[in-house]
Amino acid sequence: FLMAYEPAKRLSKMRVSIERGMKGVQMMYDLLDQPRMMIDPPDAVDLPDGPGALKLEGVRFGYPRGKAVIDGITLDFPTGRTTALVGPSGGGKSTLLNLILRLYDPDEGRITLDGCDLRQATAASLRRKIAYVGQDTFLFSATVMENLRLVRPNATDDEVHKAARIAHADEFIQTLPQGYDTPIGENGAFLSGGQRQRLAIARAVLRQAPILLLDEATSALDSHSEAMVRDALDRITVGVTTIVVAHRLSTVLKADLICYLEGGRIVETGSLDQLLTRNGRFRALYEQQFAPA
Ligand code: ADP
Ligand code: MG
Repeated sequence: FLMAYEPAKRLSKMRVSIERGMKGVQMMYDLLDQPRMMIDPPDAVDLPDGPGALKLEGVRFGYPRGKAVIDGITLDFPTGRTTALVGPSGGGKSTLLNLILRLYDPDEGRITLDGCDLRQATAASLRRKIAYVGQDTFLFSATVMENLRLVRPNATDDEVHKAARIAHADEFIQTLPQGYDTPIGENGAFLSGGQRQRLAIARAVLRQAPILLLDEATSALDSHSEAMVRDALDRITVGVTTIVVAHRLSTVLKADLICYLEGGRIVETGSLDQLLTRNGRFRALYEQQFAPA
């Protein structure tokens, strides 16, 4: 069956301006935040409350008209801990996140969250359980407050402020001309990359999701923003099942589990010490990409 393909990008190209109030904003956000338009099957269930145990069982997937990009992965992500995905470009890291976000479904095998197959879950419950912070933060031509409240329309001002403080966003928001009521321009044009990421992190905090997916920026943020983003992520990943596409040494060093993906397979997995001792693929990548100069 057909799935909507990256409508977030298409919509953002349409330069949609928000003049229809929060209801319109929320509706669009539902599309943008979970790009695939999911229609719940009649027997869909809300994901159960649980610790956030995420498992892949024999997962295979290829993009339509393409070869297998995820080629048989079975993996228990450590619950409440951080798993770093590393490996060469094209290895399947972002695709793995796409499958967990259910932008696509596996061709074979299954992905379960607290024992429930994602395919049986309602779209609304999946959105509550999984937060995503990627390289691109989608922002509307609306105020900072409206942009943050999008993920939880009934959040109080206090809750939004608190989330922004945790995300280290509050300090720059306070310096904007009208604070939280400052309109942010077309897709946040006047904000820096690091500021936009901190808004994305504040949204993730407001979601209070037990699963957090991060696709780390490949391009460097300015060093102040970098430190703020890093500190904010350290705060919000505590006790949360986190999966991060890692491009930074500091992320790899802090991960509880490292998975090296190549050609859609996990070719090495273990702790940093285990993988360095093995002297294989990860060790080579580490020396080339991650090791301090
Ligand atoms: P990584 O994040 O590890 O660099 P990706 O998951 O982005 O790897 O890509 C894995 C493979 O899937 C690559 O060969 C890539 O070209 C292909 N691919 C990624 N996204 C798409 C897409 N939307 N449609 C078709 N092929 C894709
Ligand atoms: Mg990628």
